[in-house]
Amino acid sequence: MIERTLFSPEHEAFRDSFRRFCDKEIAPFHADWEEQGYVDREVWRKAGANGFLCMTMPEQYGGAGADRLYSVVQMEELARGGYSGIGYGLHNEIVAPYIEHYGTEAQKQKYLPAMARGDMIGAIAMSEPAAGSDLQGVKSTALLKHDETGDHYLLNGSKTFITNGWHADLVIVVAKTDPAAGAKGTSLLLVERGMPGFETGKRLKKVGLKAQDTAELFFNDVKVPAANLLGPLNRGFVSLMEQLPWERMQIAIGAAAKSQAAIDWTMAYVKDRKVFGQAVAQYQNTRFKLAELQTQVQIAQVFVDKCIALLLEDKLDTATASMAKYWVSDLENKVIDECVQLFGGYGYMWEYPIARAFVDARVQRIYGGTNEIMKEVIARAMGLPGR
Ligand SMILES: Cc1cc2nc3c(=O)[nH]c(=O)nc-3n(C[C@H](O)[C@H](O)[C@H](O)COP(=O)(O)OP(=O)(O)OC[C@H]3O[C@@H](n4cnc5c(N)ncnc54)[C@H](O)[C@@H]3O)c2cc1C
Repeated sequence: MIERTLFSPEHEAFRDSFRRFCDKEIAPFHADWEEQGYVDREVWRKAGANGFLCMTMPEQYGGAGADRLYSVVQMEELARGGYSGIGYGLHNEIVAPYIEHYGTEAQKQKYLPAMARGDMIGAIAMSEPAAGSDLQGVKSTALLKHDETGDHYLLNGSKTFITNGWHADLVIVVAKTDPAAGAKGTSLLLVERGMPGFETGKRLKKVGLKAQDTAELFFNDVKVPAANLLGPLNRGFVSLMEQLPWERMQIAIGAAAKSQAAIDWTMAYVKDRKVFGQAVAQYQNTRFKLAELQTQVQIAQVFVDKCIALLLEDKLDTATASMAKYWVSDLENKVIDECVQLFGGYGYMWEYPIARAFVDARVQRIYGGTNEIMKEVIARAMGLPGR
């Protein structure tokens, strides 16, 4: 195996401490959370108290000023453990960075420390019932108004499939501030729980990610103060595009870690399980299959690590990140499917992590931009003419 060189001894020490946190605060409860359809809020506060939220944010905003590799470690550990209900990644490395990059000083001071404590849970709402891949087709509107209370945006519309949506206290909402201008009329707004007219819909019943609260959100004449505009007016689309490489890499990072975990679980199982008087591991089919999967996961890990290194130098382009997202999430699905087969019937039983991994993996090819959209991005970067 090729040794990974990204992480320092400090990162590895952090891995140990985060793993202990997961063993104590997540593992014993995750199955119950899957039953109830969401994780307890307490696990957010505990993560905050232990310094596991918003670590990469500057210290003056409640973070630790840590480099992104600490977040990579955290994502890998959550994937490895199968803790798919935990939405720290989206909160720490999608929502918080938007506020850090595009927020005003007042916004950073108001939201980031509360997010770092786990008192505020963050979500980002782009997708709508009729606009997922085609974000330019977003129909939610936020029109600037003035009344006796001052300037505000009147927000109307609905969002769906929003991760952390049911728990969320703070939602970055993508809306049209100039509906006639298409993508160039799109802005980001910081919408808080409790603003009149903002309602959280039902938690959506999903095939996998059972403990993840994925919800619909409704905005009905919500008066969002003008000061809650995030980033420049009508430049929301540009902000979304700028953040894409890191967001896509997060899916690839989890996919590589999960693929390796699946191989590890399967290795342990096939050595133990006897069929026709010999361990399943001794059949050539098993040995070849696992050898093939390990080869492919090794190749994926080397590519992912190279992309992470480029990202840390600010040199990772969107097309390369899209390659990682599409290829490694496809591989994850293939690896886990083959591993389920090697488990036989037990691989289809919920109490086995491989069964949960099987249903959790499927959405990796869909969210964060579908893998077809990733191929569009790659083809465009190659200079191939489109529609
Ligand atoms: C569990 C889960 C969590 C999610 N979390 C969030 C979240 O936190 N925030 C958020 O905003 N969204 C979230 N999403 C939404 C997700 O990003 C969208 O589902 C995704 O982008 C696809 O959009 P869609 O569902 O509307 O599919 P559609 O866009 O309707 O796509 C349908 C099919 O058409 C294909 N297609 C579309 N356009 C093209 C094209 N140009 N060329 C070729 N094929 C194409 C797609 O690949 C797909 O196969 C989440 C979704 C899920 C399932």
